[in-house]
Amino acid sequence: MHPPTTTFQQRAHQALQDRNLQLALDRAMHHFVDGRLNAFARLPHGEALRDHARVIRANAIARLDEHLETFERNARANGSMVHWARDDEEARALVLKIARENGVQRIIKSKSMLSEEIELNPALEKEGLDVLETDLGEFIVQLAHDHPSHIIAPVVHWPLERVQKLFHEHLGTPLDASITDLTAAARRALRNGFLQADMGISGANFAVAETGSVVLVTNEGNGRFVTTAPRIHVALVGIERMAPTLRELGTLLQLLARSATGQPLSVYTSIVTGPRRSPQEDGPEQVHIIFIDNGRTQALAGELAESLYCIRCGACLNVCPVYRRLGGHAYGSVYPGPIGIVVTPALDGLFPWHELPQASTLCGACTEACPVRIDIPRMLLKLRADTVDAGLAPTWLRHGLKLYTKAAQHPRLFRLGRKLAAWTQRLAPRTPQGWVQSMPGPLAGWTDSRAFPPLASESFSERWEKRRRHER
Ligand code: SF4
Repeated sequence: MHPPTTTFQQRAHQALQDRNLQLALDRAMHHFVDGRLNAFARLPHGEALRDHARVIRANAIARLDEHLETFERNARANGSMVHWARDDEEARALVLKIARENGVQRIIKSKSMLSEEIELNPALEKEGLDVLETDLGEFIVQLAHDHPSHIIAPVVHWPLERVQKLFHEHLGTPLDASITDLTAAARRALRNGFLQADMGISGANFAVAETGSVVLVTNEGNGRFVTTAPRIHVALVGIERMAPTLRELGTLLQLLARSATGQPLSVYTSIVTGPRRSPQEDGPEQVHIIFIDNGRTQALAGELAESLYCIRCGACLNVCPVYRRLGGHAYGSVYPGPIGIVVTPALDGLFPWHELPQASTLCGACTEACPVRIDIPRMLLKLRADTVDAGLAPTWLRHGLKLYTKAAQHPRLFRLGRKLAAWTQRLAPRTPQGWVQSMPGPLAGWTDSRAFPPLASESFSERWEKRRRHER
């Protein structure tokens, strides 16, 4: 992953001023959140299912080595070829090698965040290969030379009007084309790609150790085309995507679609178990499964291992007050939102991404929404502590925290500091409701876009003491 050259604050400011983005996010987020709540309201024992899913993921990650070996054995027995990539470079090299050895020119892809993580498309295009994204959102992103901004909805940051304009310019649809007309135009544009491709590249929502299968969950059917129409199918799989058995896969699938889109099950669930076998007429001649580490083993060994339980449903993004205002691009990482600000430094190291763990209010809405109950705030606090320990926090924050620690340990000093702050704030401009309108120095970031509640003229303990004296 390449860290951006601008700061998180700069990107956040830009996102807040983008009216199109704000409009698109407002429309989409309510839809996702309401859909999830309704879907869970109709699911008997939904909470128990979440507990069970957490145990499944925790056990899968705790015994990852065994499951990976079982998977490899079973996948080879099915006729699939299993490859291992330590990092993004090795993963890209493996895909290119398979393409070269098989005389591949045209590649179709279904949505894969992992392929974004390893920056696969630029590497393939640099070698002169034609790459076509077939998920509608990814197709739009590719046409516009943009980047996905949500784990499951790549163009959630695009209002309809922008898609209409893009399709008008590239596919000749009218400027006021309906959604049905737009999807029909995309279907026409993609059809030849499906029929002519030599290789299909997919991700995998899960890999089932028991059967050596990769599982793809989509709503558009493009995943099935990508995995069956070309003569070669390459599946990119993060090593943590393991579901030990089909039974456990069933539990995870019940939660994935409900948490992601509010559907009981996604429209297409494909379980790919090897290439076609005689006398089957359909399906690829070769299936290659590339397991990619790229920082996951390192994450597994530390206190952020829980982030690997993630089943990439996107629910935590949809409820996060920060994501809902900024969208995905402000994070600068392939993985945005609450899970992104943990997973990105977990995979790629804290130094280039040390700003990200600050992009949270620690409200806990993410954990409440997460189908496998990942404790994101706990890991964020750990990352923030690591940031301070590594000397990466801003100087004012480090000195400020030291000062606060001292004051909190000495009540007199604390009282004096509080009085001083209460007195100083009288000089600050106020809103008609009496809130502080602007604060100085590093605190100005808070009041740039909202007011700050004033400090009480008397502290709680002063009022308590006064009341006690009065009652005596
Ligand atoms: S952390 Fe939980 S809610 Fe967020 S994407 Fe992963 S599984 Fe979904």
